[in-house]
Formats: sequence, structure tokens, C-alpha cells
Amino acid sequence: MEIRKNYINGEWQLALGGASRDVINPANGEVIARVADSTAEDTRQAIAAAHAAFYGKGEWRRMAAPRRAELLHRVADGIKARADELARLDCLDNGKPLREARGDVDDAAACFRYYAGLISVPQGGVYEVSDAFGPMHAYSMHEPIGVCGLITPWNYPLLMATWKLAPALAAGNCVVFKPSELTPLSAVVLFEILHAAGLPAGTANLVLGTGPAAGQLLAESHDVDMVTFTGSTRTGQLIASAAVGNLKKVGLELGGKSPNIIFADADLEGAVEWAMIGVFFNQGEVCSAGSRILIEESIKDAFVARLAERANAMTIGNGLDDPDMGAIVSQGQMDKILAHIERAKQQGARLVCGGERYTEGECARGYFVRPTVFDNCRRDMDLVREEVFGPVVAVQTFRTEAEAIAMANDTPYGLAGGVFTSDGARALRVIREIRAGVTWVNCYNPTFNEAPWGGYKMSGYGRDLGVNGLQEYQQVKQVNINLQPGVLGWYQH
Ligand code: NAD
Repeated sequence: MEIRKNYINGEWQLALGGASRDVINPANGEVIARVADSTAEDTRQAIAAAHAAFYGKGEWRRMAAPRRAELLHRVADGIKARADELARLDCLDNGKPLREARGDVDDAAACFRYYAGLISVPQGGVYEVSDAFGPMHAYSMHEPIGVCGLITPWNYPLLMATWKLAPALAAGNCVVFKPSELTPLSAVVLFEILHAAGLPAGTANLVLGTGPAAGQLLAESHDVDMVTFTGSTRTGQLIASAAVGNLKKVGLELGGKSPNIIFADADLEGAVEWAMIGVFFNQGEVCSAGSRILIEESIKDAFVARLAERANAMTIGNGLDDPDMGAIVSQGQMDKILAHIERAKQQGARLVCGGERYTEGECARGYFVRPTVFDNCRRDMDLVREEVFGPVVAVQTFRTEAEAIAMANDTPYGLAGGVFTSDGARALRVIREIRAGVTWVNCYNPTFNEAPWGGYKMSGYGRDLGVNGLQEYQQVKQVNINLQPGVLGWYQH
């Protein structure tokens, strides 16, 4: 089997130590590819390439923004041209349904176009300043940060890569990217596309391997100016502490335990459908998953019955067959989810539906979990406090708006939250009180390239997407020009 390689300084190369690892299809446990299994030595080489490209030749950062934009549009064209292949790869190593993978590919192409457009509009500002020092012209310019290390998780392989690569490159940075070791396949194709688009050598580098072996140096190295990470809160903490050596900028998009609040005056059928998207989309492996449903007591029974009916009707299977729900990414992740389910039962939550591995037919060879609803959940249960990252939802009830808000905020996380109500003023009141970075009213989980994405509290800091997403990868330089050289203003006696 051919080994998928690292891409360093414009060249494809095997890991320096010669090691490689299997990539598994979680729908049937089969090996689908072998990829380079890099160590810190490979990452060091990639960082050196990015460093030389940025601080040496500086071709990319000096390139006029409209020309950079042109290359990013070419990347978007390349993604569209290879859309079927990319969607298939994300489906194969992640397990997600094909139509969801297709949606990710469209979003990825649109994200490159969005940042190509954004870098083409005015970036800095001109300031009217005091003339105390004589007449001055003051302006600011947005410059790239330098060498950026980008690390992503496995749940949206192509999309998470794009959310970081597109703005980092648009801003003129040179990057080293390490995707998850579980889902590296679409990243290899994306780098073929970057290569074909004509990015100068060293501008974008790809290192394949595990976090501790291949990723950690991106946080530690003094030759990296920024590290941006999407993944678990625990790894985010490790990255933040490894990054202090040179005080590099850190961006963290971490986990969540997000509340989905449903009031009795909401459209019940709509709330059920959005709640399904909130917690079963992408097998529930979504950082913003509405994994805590907080529901007004008077409608709880009707809501839970309908939710269970809809969950039980979901088709489960190989992502390539486009079921409602695909495979969990790995045996390890499936085992974690099943352990959460067992603990929830032991701690007294009432299992309404699901609650077990799914093993019908061909699925017996893969890692599938039935969509699971737990009722009668209490705040002290692990299911209510810990991120599961799978198709499992905890239902709790409230009686008043104030109680709902208090329950929603009773978590160390702050990534997302939703509110369902037909009372517009109440929706706005509740949203204002939710301590989370992404919120929805009468919908759950829609995400847009144009709007910022990121967390409060232990869900991290920094923002992906939108204008903020570009600014994360820029630093601002202030320029003050004396229009009358020799004049010193008030300082002159
Ligand atoms: P993870 O933290 O285990 O791994 C994420 C990435 O970090 C992988 O590429 C991994 O190889 C790497 N890594 C692991 N240890 C490292 C280390 N010591 N140094 C450097 N890199 C290291 O997370 P995961 O299991 O891949 O993904 C699931 C988590 O990601 C969930 O907690 C989820 O909430 C979170 N997530 C958050 C967002 C968001 O936008 N907030 C989006 C997607 C996923």
C-alpha cells in the first residue's frame, strides 16, 4: 500500500524515521490507507521550511493581497474539481454520511473564497491624531503573525483544516498543519490542491502523525509565532502551557456541553427536528452539540416521546450508503461513548431509547452507536457535566426562565447554546444571559463562514471564521509619519 506523505517545503516526503501508520474505515474496521507517522524531527523540518519562507524570501507575505486572493480562489476551484473524492475520503476515515461530507466540501470551497474576498478589502485604518508633536499622518496596517502551527481534530477533517488554513494563508502567514491521525486523508488531497494552485515552497507544510509525537513541537517551538488548535479541552490546556516559552499567540477551539433550552410556547415539531440536528448530526461528534436538552416541565413528556420516536426511526450504516447516521470515528471513541452510557444508567438517568452499540448486518464489523436519549437527568450526573462527543443527549426539566438560565450556565464550558420559544423578547433575554460564544434561536447548529465561531470559559478563546477569524492571524502595526520633519511640537523649547 502506498504511503501518504508529508508535504514539506514544496516536496512530498516520507517521515524521516521511515515510520507509517494505518488509517481505518470505522464503518467496517478495514485498513484503507497508510500514512507517514511523523516525529518531532519531521515537524522541526516543516517549521524550519515555514520559517525560511516567511522570514527569508518572504514571497508569500510580500505578495500583493489581490494576487494571494487569486491563488486562494484557485484552491477553491481545486476543491470543487475534486469534490467527490474529498467527500468520499472524509466519509471513509471519519464515518460520516456522504451527503454531510459533501456539504463540508462545499463549505470548505466557500471558506477559501470568503477569505480571498476578505483579504481584498481595506485592512487598516487612518487616524486623526493630535498635533502636539507637529502635523502627523497616522495609519495602521494588518500584517501576518509569522509562522503558524495549526492542529485539528477528526470530526470535520476537511472543514476544520480549512477554517484555519484559509484565513492564516489569506493573511500572509506561513503554516505547518497537523491533522488528526485518525482522519488525515482529505488533508493530503487539500495539500495537492494547494501545491497545484502555486503557493511558494514552504508557505504551507503538512505533517502527518500523532499529537504528542508530531503536534507538540508546534506549541513548544520558539520558531513558531502562533499555534491554533481545535480539539479537546485537556489537549488545549497542554498546548497553552507548552506555548508559554516564547509567548506565542494561542487560539483554542475546545469542547462543550451545550444547553438547548426549549420553552412550552415553542413549535414542538420544529424543536424536535432541530434538537435531532443538534445532537445526532455527524453522529453527535460536534463540539457545539446540544447535548443537554433543558425543557419546560409541562411539555417534557410529549417532547421526549416524539424525540425518541424520531431517533428510533433513524437509519444507521456505512457513510457511503448515506444513512441518517454513520459510524463513530474509532473503536476507542465508541468505547468511550458506551462507557458514558453505562455510567449514566448507573447514576440513575432513565434510558428512553438507544443506549447500545448498533450491530445489524455489516455494521457488526464497524463502530456504531444507536441514537440515545436519557431522561430524568440531574446536574450532578457525569452525563450532564462531561462532553460525550457521540449521539447521546441528557434531558432535564425547568419551571421558570430564571431556572433555565441558571441550568444552562451550570457548566465549565461555554461553546454554544440554543433557545426555542415563540416569544421574541424572551429569546433575546435568554440569549443575553447564556455564557457561550455561539447561540441559536429556534434553530440549532447552522454555521456560516461569514460569522465568528468560538467559545467562552473552558471552551477556549480566539475565533474561527468571519472577520474575526482573519484578524486572529494578523497583527496590527501603527505607523506615524511626521509631515514636517524637524518640527518637534510641544517638546521644542
Ligand atoms: P484531541 O484533543 O484528542 O486531538 C485534537 C488534535 O490535537 C489531534 O490532531 C491530535 O493529534 C492533536 N494532539 C493531541 N495531543 C497533542 C499534544 N500533546 N500536542 C499537540 N497536539 C496534540 O481531540 P479529538 O479527540 O481529535 O477531537 C474531539 C474534541 O475536539 C472534542 O472535545 C471536541 O469538542 C473538540 N472540537 C472542538 C471544536 C470547536 O470548534 N470548538 C470543533 C471540533 C472539535
